[in-house]
Amino acid sequence: MPCLFCRSNTEPADRREHIVPESLGGDDSFCAPKGSVCNRCNQYFGTTVEREALDDYPFNILRISNGIITKRGKWASMKSDLGRLSASPWKNTIGLDPKNVEIENRILSGGLDRMLVYAEPRKPVAQCRLLIKMGLEAVSFADEAFAQRDKYNAARSFARSPRRGDRWWYLICGTHLLNDDDGSASATLLHVEDRWNMLHFHIGSFDFFVPLTKEILPTDLEKLPEPDYRFVEVRV
Ligand SMILES: [Zn+2]
Repeated sequence: MPCLFCRSNTEPADRREHIVPESLGGDDSFCAPKGSVCNRCNQYFGTTVEREALDDYPFNILRISNGIITKRGKWASMKSDLGRLSASPWKNTIGLDPKNVEIENRILSGGLDRMLVYAEPRKPVAQCRLLIKMGLEAVSFADEAFAQRDKYNAARSFARSPRRGDRWWYLICGTHLLNDDDGSASATLLHVEDRWNMLHFHIGSFDFFVPLTKEILPTDLEKLPEPDYRFVEVRV
């Protein structure tokens, strides 16, 4: 079968393609069928799209609050105004390596007791492309032949090689980063108007929804107020 994204018949990927990235808590039980993604696409998504998307809000902070360990065996971390933040083995506890002595002293003296997080995706194109990619792989996991249907062509090309002016959208639900949720990650397909037209991805206390065809448009947005819901319009 041709590659799910570029439709070429080139060499299949030699690595397992995790549908929910390992860096977001995905595991071996939920992988794209062997050979469904070519080596080039697999590498491209890993080194370009995924890296950019995971570095952005809310994935970056979710990785830290959910205690993710990177492929290199280190705690997931990110830069902040105060210094480097990192995941820790303790639930709802984030590590901070202050960037200078002044900040360290202010924290120790109690003069600095809160941190603001920039709660807005800065790279929505990458995040949207990652979500679509996960969605198409989830369809392929459910029914490999169905994932090859033409109705997914727009999603395929947006995920793999979006063109200037292309548009898509997704919805983020949730605002609380530290909570009692177990931090698990899952991805499911939703039926909207037809079979498998939307991906629902859940991680920690956040939910993401992304359409897999152009026909699915957002409705009743007035019932989805910010900040609990964030409708993200994406334009390349
Ligand atoms: Zn490919």
